[in-house]
Amino acid sequence: MSLPNAPHRTWEERDRSHLLHPFLPDSQQRRVVMVEGEGCVLRDATGREYLDATAGMWLCQVGHGRTEIAEAAARQMSRLEYSTAFWDFTHDRAISLAERLVGLAHPATGRAFFTSGGSEGTETALRMARNFHHRRGAPDRTWVLTRTRAYHGAGYASGELSDFPAYTSGFGPQPGHVHRLTAPYPYAHARSGADGPEDVTEFCLRELEEAIHRIGPHRIAALIGEPVLALGGMVAPPTDYWPRVAELLRAHGILLIMDEVVTAFGRTGSWYSAGQMGVQPDLTVLSKGLTSGYFPLGAVLLTRRIADVLGAGDGFPVGHTYSAHPTGCAVAEANLDIIEREHLLDAAGAIGARLATALAPLEALPLVGEVRQHGLMIGVEVVADKALGRPLPHGTYALADLIRDRTGVLVRGGPRSLTLAPPLVMTPEQADHVGTALFDVLSGHPAPAS
Ligand code: PLP
Repeated sequence: MSLPNAPHRTWEERDRSHLLHPFLPDSQQRRVVMVEGEGCVLRDATGREYLDATAGMWLCQVGHGRTEIAEAAARQMSRLEYSTAFWDFTHDRAISLAERLVGLAHPATGRAFFTSGGSEGTETALRMARNFHHRRGAPDRTWVLTRTRAYHGAGYASGELSDFPAYTSGFGPQPGHVHRLTAPYPYAHARSGADGPEDVTEFCLRELEEAIHRIGPHRIAALIGEPVLALGGMVAPPTDYWPRVAELLRAHGILLIMDEVVTAFGRTGSWYSAGQMGVQPDLTVLSKGLTSGYFPLGAVLLTRRIADVLGAGDGFPVGHTYSAHPTGCAVAEANLDIIEREHLLDAAGAIGARLATALAPLEALPLVGEVRQHGLMIGVEVVADKALGRPLPHGTYALADLIRDRTGVLVRGGPRSLTLAPPLVMTPEQADHVGTALFDVLSGHPAPAS
C-alpha cells in the first residue's frame, strides 16, 4: 500500500520509500534520523542525544552547529553564490583560500586545484601524476602503487586504489595498472607467522623495491598513501617508513601522492600530517576537515614543479562544475579561522591524551587486541582470539551499532577495528564518557555474531 506524502508517515517510512543509502540493505528497517547538533552532541528526531566520537565521517573538526560558519556561507551566497574557475574566470574566495592552503604546506608547494570532495581529489591527483609524466616525455609511466587497507574514494580509479572489495567486485573491468603493496600494520605484522620477526618497515621497503624492479621504474607514475591509515583501522606507520619510501620513490622519479583527506587540519596535531611524517609530497589530496563538512569541498596541492608542467601549453585539461565553489571556499576560510583562533591544532594532543587515559582500560579486555592512537585518530582492534590477534569474522559493524544503541556514543565499525575521530572540541568529560561507554559494552559482551 502506498501512502504518498501522508502526514502521519514517520521519517523512517518516508526514508525507506525514497532514499537509497550507501551500504544499507533494504531488509534493515531501522533508521537513525538526525535533526540537529551542537559541539560533539547530535540529536535525532525522537529527541535522543548521541555523543559523536566520529566527527560525522571523521570531518567535523570544529564541532557541530557553528553559526559563525553558517553566517559566512549566507554572506557569500548573498554576494556571489557561485562562479566558475574554468578558463580565465576566477574569484576572490578561491584565490584567498588557495593562497592560505599553499602557505601552510611545505615550501615546494606551488598551487591548489579545488574539487568537490575526496574521491574527486584522488581521481584528479591521479590524472595530474600521469599527465605530468606524459607531458615530460614519459607516457609509459601509467602504473600506480597503492597499499593494503587503503581507502582513497568511490570512483572507478579511486575505488580500485582502495583496498575495498565492494568497489571492485560486481562492476566488471577496472581501470587497471594498479599494484598493491603491504601497508605497515605493526599489530597484524607481529602476529603474521612467516614474516613476523622481520622489522615491518624492512619488509615493506623490500616489497616496494621488488615491485619497482618487477614493473619497471620507467612505467610507474606514482605511489598513493594515507599518512595514517584511516578506514584501515587508524594505523600509524613506524617513524622511518614514510621518509624511506619517499627517498626510494624520488630515486626512481616516482611521484608521492599523500591522501590527507582525513589526517589534515588538526586531526593529527598539525595542518598537514606529511610534515610530521618527514616527507614532502608531490601531490596532496585534501577534503573533510577543510570545511569541517559544512560544505562539500576538496583540494589537491601541487608542487611548483608539477604545476608549472601542467599549466604549460594548453593547461590542465580537467575541470568540474563545482570546483572552487565560492560558498565552499568562504566556508573553508571560516572553518580555518576557528581552528586558528581556538588553537585546535593543540587539541589532538590535549584531548588525545585524555582519551588515551579513558580508553587504556580496554586493553585488558579479552575482546580487545590493542588500542592505538595517533592524535585524534584512534583504533580499537577487536579480536576473536587475543593470543593470535584474529579479527571477528564479520568485523566490528554490529558492535558499533550496539555501542550506539546502548550508550548513545557514536563510533565507527570496520573490518577489524572500532574507529574514533572525534571533533577537536571534545571536552575532557566527554572523552571520559566515551571510555566508560566502550568499556561497559566491550566488557559485558561476547563477540557478536555478525
Ligand atoms: N581518502 C580518504 C583517506 C578517505 O577516508 C576518504 C573518505 O572517507 C576519501 C579519500 C574519499 O572522500 P569522499 O568520500 O569525500 O569522496
